[in-house]
Amino acid sequence: MAPDELPHLRRCVELAAEALADGDEPFGSVLVAADGTVLAEDRNRVAGGDQTRHPEFELARWAAANLTPEQRAAATVFTSGEHCPMCAAAHGWVGLGRIVYVASSEQLLGWLAELGVPPPPVRALPIRDVVPGLAVQGPIPELADQVHELHRRHHRRDSRTEVDSVLG
Ligand code: ZN
Repeated sequence: MAPDELPHLRRCVELAAEALADGDEPFGSVLVAADGTVLAEDRNRVAGGDQTRHPEFELARWAAANLTPEQRAAATVFTSGEHCPMCAAAHGWVGLGRIVYVASSEQLLGWLAELGVPPPPVRALPIRDVVPGLAVQGPIPELADQVHELHRRHHRRDSRTEVDSVLG
């Protein structure tokens, strides 16, 4: 990852904190064009009851609707947590390019286990197990502690307090 890409990951963590403050799960993602332009961003929105409202899925559909195949392939998705299999599949089907994530699915599962939270109903798989050959980078240790803290707060149900204090 290039040093000038770190702000995109920081924005993902901000979006994850915004989701947490709004009662959703703490995940955020940013879609960036080949020239570094931010094209779209979103954060988790599952609190309304639709468990497929993951930001990476939304960005894949946005890309399909708004970008040419060439633009999609040249774009990068930055995200606070590694794509789940559903989102990795959507990413692969629409032909998006590189993924950079802060925390891996393996890290998240470890955190959930620490917190005594049952594993999710969909098995976590490495992105490359779903989309072979895709360029994938992560985890990013300098931001992983912030993401860990957001998930800790989410599952301890004290998410509406002091979210701002997590962001460095
Ligand atoms: Zn997902």
